[in-house]
Amino acid sequence: MAHRPTADAVVVGGGVIGLGIAWRAASAGMTVTVVDEAPGRGASWAAAGMLAPVTEVHYGEGPLLALNLAAAGRWPSFAAEVEEASGRPVGYRPGGTLAVARDADDNAALEDLYRFQLRCGLEVERLRSRECRQLEPGLHPGIRGGVLAAGDHQVDNRALVQALLAACERAGVRLVAGRAAALAVEGDRVTGVVLAAGGSPAGGAASGPSPSSPTGETIPSGAVVLAAGCWSGGLGGLAAEALPPVRPVKGQLLYLRGPADQPLCSRNVRGLEVYVVPRGDGRVVVGATVEEQGFDTTVTAGAVHDLLRAALELLPDTAELELTETVVGLRPGSPDNAPMLGPAGPQGLVVATGHYRNGILLTPVTADAVAELLATGQVPELIAPFGPGRFAGRVPAGTARGTP
Ligand code: FAD
Repeated sequence: MAHRPTADAVVVGGGVIGLGIAWRAASAGMTVTVVDEAPGRGASWAAAGMLAPVTEVHYGEGPLLALNLAAAGRWPSFAAEVEEASGRPVGYRPGGTLAVARDADDNAALEDLYRFQLRCGLEVERLRSRECRQLEPGLHPGIRGGVLAAGDHQVDNRALVQALLAACERAGVRLVAGRAAALAVEGDRVTGVVLAAGGSPAGGAASGPSPSSPTGETIPSGAVVLAAGCWSGGLGGLAAEALPPVRPVKGQLLYLRGPADQPLCSRNVRGLEVYVVPRGDGRVVVGATVEEQGFDTTVTAGAVHDLLRAALELLPDTAELELTETVVGLRPGSPDNAPMLGPAGPQGLVVATGHYRNGILLTPVTADAVAELLATGQVPELIAPFGPGRFAGRVPAGTARGTP
């Protein structure tokens, strides 16, 4: 049975990417439905919320750097717009990031990174040990030096998720608490989304796990946005080559808490093995592992130990904080670590996934570019280098499975 009225677009997946797109598209006048049984509880909930194009720069990722920098530039106005539209704070904190070296080896690696950052034309400042400790008095006295990236900030990703959900609701986005089992395709066109059994087409609060078999219930739609994070490769109804080659990359992360008036540090602090992100209200995020473990979401004693040890080596007072939460998330990884954004396979299908370790950072540019693509049918120049078709013939597609 088909549900009426037909949406202009159905977004599969309600993480920051799907919600951001849905909000922007609905604000532009489109009729939008989001399908997700646990919106905002995937990688978007687990993330640290760093907006760090400079400290996250990697060799061989030039096009991604340009996109990341564009995204960072959009953040101040995007944060203000989400807050205005939702009536909720998103916790955008423009404090900068200090990368530090524990020992001579770290310092040599940091020097290499610094020189690479300079060659990329990035705004960075090399600091001596004393200068680092002037900025962050809680640093270990043995810190050998650092690099300040004054433009790498943070947002409270959990507050962002809640605000995007509220903004979507106010913009008239319909939320279906269920799971998409397959895309409906007729000829060479996507015509909608087939829900898994147990889904609730009427919408409402997120429900428990659903079986994967389709019920045959379809939400008809002129366009479908596939934004299901690391699960995006597992949908039925499409030829393997139309599915994005996305894979889960496990990340474990910790929440600590201390007194808000005696912060552990005032800006993001990172070493080679760990980052520490102070939220400003006493919460401190310590992350994160990067593990190729498929869809495993086990919290391991070794990871908790390693993260705490590495944080203590940078900021000894970490030992005084309360450990309040262990978190696991699955980053949507892509073969070149850059997102897959744009039309794929049958007409009407748009892919928006593979944001890997920068999905929070990339939310503003992804939301705007994909909403524009839905409205105009034209791929915006900014995302043109990131078309999902760039992997055609290189990587077996649609190999990722698993249940969110
Ligand atoms: P998700 O947030 O995973 O959302 C996907 C959604 O799809 C989920 O809600 C799921 O329920 C839904 N879904 C899945 N299958 C279906 C289906 N069949 N039907 C309907 N819905 C479905 N990024 C940064 O920019 N900065 C950081 O500091 C940062 N730190 C990170 C730390 C960790 C530990 C991790 C794990 C990630 C981090 N990231 C960071 C990366 C960032 O979290 C992700 O890139 C981003 O959240 C991806 O968003 P998404 O909406 O694509 O995916």
